[in-house]
Amino acid sequence: MLLVSCYELGHQPLGLAWPRAFLERAGFAPDTLDLAVQPLDEAKVRRARLAAIAVPMHTALRLGVHAAARIRQINPACRIVFHGLYAELNAEHLLGRCADLVVGGEVEGPLVAVVEQLDRGDEPAPHQRPHLERLSFPVPRRGGLPALTRYASLLRDGRRVPAGYVEASRGCLHTCLHCPIPPVYGGRFFAVPRDVVLEDVRRLVVAGAGHITFGDPDFLNGPGHAVRLVRAMHAEFPALSYDFTAKIEHIVRHRRLFSEFAATGCVFVVSAVESLSDVVLANLEKGHTRADVKSALGVLRQAGIALRPSFVPFTPWATSDDYLELLEWIGLEGLIDHVDPIQLAIRLLIPPGSLLVSRSAIRPFLGPLDVGAFTFRWTHPDPRMDALQRDVSTLVEQAARSGEDPAVTFGRIRALANARTGRVVAPTSFRAPPPDRPIAARLTEPWFC
Ligand code: SF4
Repeated sequence: MLLVSCYELGHQPLGLAWPRAFLERAGFAPDTLDLAVQPLDEAKVRRARLAAIAVPMHTALRLGVHAAARIRQINPACRIVFHGLYAELNAEHLLGRCADLVVGGEVEGPLVAVVEQLDRGDEPAPHQRPHLERLSFPVPRRGGLPALTRYASLLRDGRRVPAGYVEASRGCLHTCLHCPIPPVYGGRFFAVPRDVVLEDVRRLVVAGAGHITFGDPDFLNGPGHAVRLVRAMHAEFPALSYDFTAKIEHIVRHRRLFSEFAATGCVFVVSAVESLSDVVLANLEKGHTRADVKSALGVLRQAGIALRPSFVPFTPWATSDDYLELLEWIGLEGLIDHVDPIQLAIRLLIPPGSLLVSRSAIRPFLGPLDVGAFTFRWTHPDPRMDALQRDVSTLVEQAARSGEDPAVTFGRIRALANARTGRVVAPTSFRAPPPDRPIAARLTEPWFC
């Protein structure tokens, strides 16, 4: 059996380490391949009777479809199973084209069941409802995966620190309409036992990690679990820093926890701000307002923890004024170095099964499903916004390729947005930061969805 990962935000893939641990516990010995950092090993593909491709995100899905085509070419008899969030959302289209099987939800349980059935000579069902039972988690098996130094690191105070990526929970309690998790998890989340996460952290530290990213969709779905975990981690590894992702609403609600997060090594928190427009936020049913964003920023600043906001600036309800105002706000709040430029190019993605499609507010803008791109098309009522999104995307891509200082890229996006929307913006106190400034802590891989 061959476990394949294509892209996992630049970190050592849990899409390989988790299934491998479950399969080994069941008595199997799968091979692994991370195509983000390794070439496609034809010998491994030829040996495989089953290839399991992890697609936790949209980019991974698109790469996974190409990988499946190569695998079919090299070994036509090999069964191909797609697993993960985007496999479940796109099951119908994958099964007709490049997958023999699709498993979703808490995937390791059904994946083991599929392998056992094939091993017995039975025929597994191509697709079942997402598996939402609590699993008995082994520690992820990372031995044999490419070294941590091949993956994203923390950049802090001019130093590059190898970063490990763990999960303390999966799924989410919330149902933001644009998120791919609710259609699969239906508002449920599953905590990974503390001793399993701590053992994973121990092994990552032995492998060289000086920083840990908690990759949970929202670390504060279980705030007690989160606090006990970082307390124990800090007691054992006082020099280890960490980051996590939490929604704005959680930062505000659990404000009293943040001094402890800072004291235990938290350097930044990623939060999906998405927009500063209350109209957009209401249409996404995001659960926070612009005023909450201000409060959350205050909570983090008081604790001495940086906010790394993520955005979806291009939605059908976001106006050109909203976009310009967002750029203005980032500059005025001193957040330019906290925002990866790609965040300013993100266009709302509407995959099949998205909860957004069930709301009438999206209907005037919604086009057909683009099966090849695994997303519904949509059109902005102001054509300048669609054009601006394309131009910002091209600008950011070129800037990333040439290694441009993100603050310089930010300035160019701002100039482009002003030019394209034909608006003269009142002068503000915004100034581009000097090139020799101290840069806020961040990971070397920008966030892509
Ligand atoms: S809180 Fe985050 S992970 Fe949860 S549904 Fe909303 S966007 Fe998705």
